[in-house]
This record gives sequence, structure tokens and C-alpha cells, in this order.
Amino acid sequence: MRLILLFGALFGHIYCRQTFVGDQVLEVIPDNEEQVKTLVELEDEEDLQLDFWKSPTTPGVSAHVRVPFDRVQTVKVFLESQGIAYSTMIEDVQVLLDQENEEMLLNQRREKSGIFNFGAYHTLEEISQQMDHLVAEYPALVSKVNIGSSFENRPMNVLKFSTGGHKPAIWLDAGIHAREWVTQATALWIADKIASDYGNDPSVTSILDTMDIFLLPVSNPDGYVFSHTSNRMWRKTRSKGAGRFCVGVDPNRNWDAGFGGAGASSSPCSDSYHGPKANSEVEVKSVVDFIKSHGEVKAFLTLHSYSQLLMFPYGYTCTKPDKFNELNEVGKKAAQALKSLYGTKYEVGPICSVIYQASGGSIDWAYDSGIKYSFALELRDTGRYGFLLPATQIVPTAEETWLGLKTIMEHVRDNPY
Ligand SMILES: [Zn+2]
Repeated sequence: MRLILLFGALFGHIYCRQTFVGDQVLEVIPDNEEQVKTLVELEDEEDLQLDFWKSPTTPGVSAHVRVPFDRVQTVKVFLESQGIAYSTMIEDVQVLLDQENEEMLLNQRREKSGIFNFGAYHTLEEISQQMDHLVAEYPALVSKVNIGSSFENRPMNVLKFSTGGHKPAIWLDAGIHAREWVTQATALWIADKIASDYGNDPSVTSILDTMDIFLLPVSNPDGYVFSHTSNRMWRKTRSKGAGRFCVGVDPNRNWDAGFGGAGASSSPCSDSYHGPKANSEVEVKSVVDFIKSHGEVKAFLTLHSYSQLLMFPYGYTCTKPDKFNELNEVGKKAAQALKSLYGTKYEVGPICSVIYQASGGSIDWAYDSGIKYSFALELRDTGRYGFLLPATQIVPTAEETWLGLKTIMEHVRDNPY
């Protein structure tokens, strides 16, 4: 009996990971408003289970959609019948997933020697260990602050970089959307960079002599774990609600900023479900409470992937924020610094004009709460790999992103308010 249970558990573990054999990611380019509308209708059709990696917006701008294997032909025939242009971006999603998984396993064996490899993807447990390691290595500068627990009771730990005292602060988070793996990995590289550059790099030194930095590398720990163990494409939290059949809320539609408005779904099964009410997600509420109680957060920076965008408020409305000119200028300067390393191009602008109207987002909440310097970055790439960015691109992504973030931080340091 025990053996049966044991094997059941083993196989359960192996087979509960969802596979994506034969799934394709299509790049679709609508060339008029009607075709945009058709694609939006496709996206809203939950039964089709199309996974839009990049939503349709305007004519001429591509949308990216993962199509389950058994619907690939139907969808292609449909697009052709509508005269909508498309091409196949990813031939077989599972091939990339297998590669990613093999690389992780290989790296785990290599890391047994004790040396952390920033150019690899890691589990939540490995990330936590690395955070502890950093605190142990730089005890005078880095500490760990617990700001709450996730729905499934995992600790939400923030790295605090401080030279002492209660200074104005910069907030930086990553991974609010679980599947955007390059963001958690980038955050970890940046944490190490900040710690090792203090006292060596004059810019980092002066930033930390003026301000504290709080960095939350995994904003959605339950979702992140689920994206490793069960479904690599998971985006939302893992919360369950009474009378709700589907699990999870889009935590970046859950902030108290135009909550429930355009660009968020009221359907619990949607990937952009805004949740039953603002701050219903404990992961969001924990950050809100922490920032409010701190009282002196001057910049709110958040990492997403993918699309190579550097955005500022607003998302919930298409009117310009009152500090538009300054934010636009800082954003452009940051994008320039980012590009200087590897030539990676970023588009800069308010969320509403750069992507689409989206309500309940974190930087809108931050800005409306008085945090002037609120920016969201969508890291690499522009769709070749999308969420499945090869691990070889982690370090270059982190390096260039850091140049952009540092430019913003220098501006915050030099323009106290
Ligand atoms: Zn995201």
C-alpha cells in the first residue's frame, strides 16, 4: 500500500507538469481596425484557450499568441479566411521548455560546488538561498526584511540595501507575473551588483549614501513555484476564492488605481482577472502596506517581460500624468544608457500609449500615492523567445537593465522632493 502511494506521488509529481507539445506561438499582424477587433474577440473567447503573450492593440502592431497543438490548424485557417497576416514565431513550445529544463538540471549539478551561476534560471528555494548568501556576505550593507506571506504562506522577503538610518527609499520589484522568469533572475544579478559595487562604483556609492534600496526579487512566490512545478506559462497568483472555479488573480490588475476599469477582466478564468476587489491579493497588499508604512519611498520600479519597453503612468487612463515631461525625459535617458551596452532598443512612454489601456497596475498606484518616479520595464526580448528567453541572455539582460535603472536612480538622488 505504501509503495503504491509512493509511486502515485512520484508519478503524480512527474505527470502533473503540463506539457506544450506542438503548441505554436504565432505572430499576428492586423492591418486594419476590423482585424484588431477580430483578434480581440479571439482573445476574449476563453473556450479557445488561446494564450495571448502580447495582446492585439492597433493596426500594424503585432500580437503574439500561443495556440494549443490541437487548434493550430483551425486558428491558421481562420486567420487566412479573415485575411489576417501571421507567421510562426515558435514552432514547438515544448522543445524550448525541454531545453530550459535540461539546462536547469545541468546547472543544479554544477552549482553543487557552491558557486551560484547568475546565468541560469533557479527555483524559489535556490533564490532564497542566494538572498541569504548575499546578506551573509555583505552584513554591513544588506539585510532581509519580511513584508508578509503569500496566499500559500510563502515568505515575501525583500533585500534592503542601506548604509544606516532611515533614508528616503527606492523600491524595485520583479516577478509579479510568474512566468516572466528573466525578471526574477535579473533582480538577483542586480542585488549582487549593488552590493559589490558599493564602495567601488562612485555612482552606486553616492546613491546608497543618500537613499536606501528595497528589492523584492519574487513578488509572486506561489505563481513562481507553480510555473516551475506545474505550468511554465502561469502568470497569476494562486489564490482561491469562494464560488470561484478558476485559481488566481492577475496581481498587476489588482492595485487600487482605476481598479476594474479597461484592460482588466472580471472573469476569474482570464489571465488578466482583476480579482474580487483592489488589494484582494495578499502579495499586493503586503507591498502596499510596506510602502505606506515606510512613508518615504521616492521611486517605484518594477520589472516585467517581455517587449523592451520603459513605461510610466498612466495605464488606467490615456491622459498624461502631470509630471509627463520629466518622466519622459528620465525614461529616454535611461533607455539610452540601457542601449549603450548591447544596442538593445527600448520604446519609452506612458503605459496607455506604449501598450494599451490597463487598469489596476502597480506604477499607477505608486504614482497616485505620491511616488513621482514610477516606472515599469518590460525586459527582453521582442518575441523571438518571449517568456522563454534562453538563460544565456540573463546576464546581458541584467547588465543593460541595470544601466537603465541606475540612470533613473541617479536622477532620483539628484532631484529630491
Ligand atoms: Zn508582466
